[in-house]
Amino acid sequence: MDDRIIGHIDMDAFFAAVEERDKPWLKGLPVVIGADPKGGVGRGVVATANYAARKYGIHSALPIQKAWSYSESARKRGERGVVFITSRGRRYAEISKEVFDIVSSYVDTMQITSIDEAYFDITNTGSYEEAKRVARQIKKEITQKTKLTGSIGIGPNKMIAKIASDLQKPDGLTIISADETYDLLARLPLRTIPGIGPKVEEKFKRLGIATVEGARIFSWQEMQDMFGSHGFSLYQKLRGSGSVTLREPQVRKSIGKHKTFPEDTIDLDLIHAVIEEMGKKILASLHKKRFTGFRTIVLTVRFGDFETKSRSLTSSEPVHSLSILQARALKLLLPFFEATENPKQKKIRMVGLRLEKLQ
Ligand SMILES: [Mg+2]
Repeated sequence: MDDRIIGHIDMDAFFAAVEERDKPWLKGLPVVIGADPKGGVGRGVVATANYAARKYGIHSALPIQKAWSYSESARKRGERGVVFITSRGRRYAEISKEVFDIVSSYVDTMQITSIDEAYFDITNTGSYEEAKRVARQIKKEITQKTKLTGSIGIGPNKMIAKIASDLQKPDGLTIISADETYDLLARLPLRTIPGIGPKVEEKFKRLGIATVEGARIFSWQEMQDMFGSHGFSLYQKLRGSGSVTLREPQVRKSIGKHKTFPEDTIDLDLIHAVIEEMGKKILASLHKKRFTGFRTIVLTVRFGDFETKSRSLTSSEPVHSLSILQARALKLLLPFFEATENPKQKKIRMVGLRLEKLQ
């Protein structure tokens, strides 16, 4: 197979950067985008923290309450408190489209993996040098048109491209050619490798191993003994091999909403009312997006202890009406109040409703 040249773009602190651009008064301040902290009792998590807020230890997925308390500590030290901003999803989606329209004008194939990340294939540039020139051009056009910066990594496969895009954030451009991959990877911490999480890291740590190079002493058989079915793929990743297949952006497959309650609750009437409201909204946006119906409905419940369960129903014929949607949602919901799905009668923290197999 031909050697491919793959790129990965990751916008820098994307949501925060959009807000900073739209609200110039935020310049220089620590900014956190996410749930409303409600003076320290809010629920939900941080979506993005800008670089100034990250200095306080705030990062994505941190509970918003923690972010609030870090901000308060900073204030007590005499530093600037964090500006908390509620996510504006539609705005970020608009800008995301602008960014990816620019990228796609330079490349043959692109796989969008999140609102601010995508892989692209630039094998047709013919060399890493030329690929770098194109990447610089992409970055320049994005900054000119959107006033935002992104980091690009280029490598022989998706894994290396993604690792590279992260190496010199923000506003980075990092090339790891096929020839450099093996040696460059050797020096990096194990956690750099996708698929190596805290558990695998810990396992190596107990063996005195902290870098990719250290972990390479094991044969693939030994890796399989240690990590079971993931062993072989880990073995390959440690040596820098990875997939080069890009999936084209897919059409939207599902549409849904979720709600975290201000307080955990087991009040069926309340929860049912919330789900009915959600059903209405979801069906309206389904129609707005020109779908006529759906076949699968998924109800997700997160309990107070964060245990999360989903139940779903799929019909052979597409569903179009709100009343059938509501009836099915209720049917999915009830077992969460019964011994089958909720033997300990735990309170519920969040509910979500999603429609799939859209028509
Ligand atoms: Mg990003």
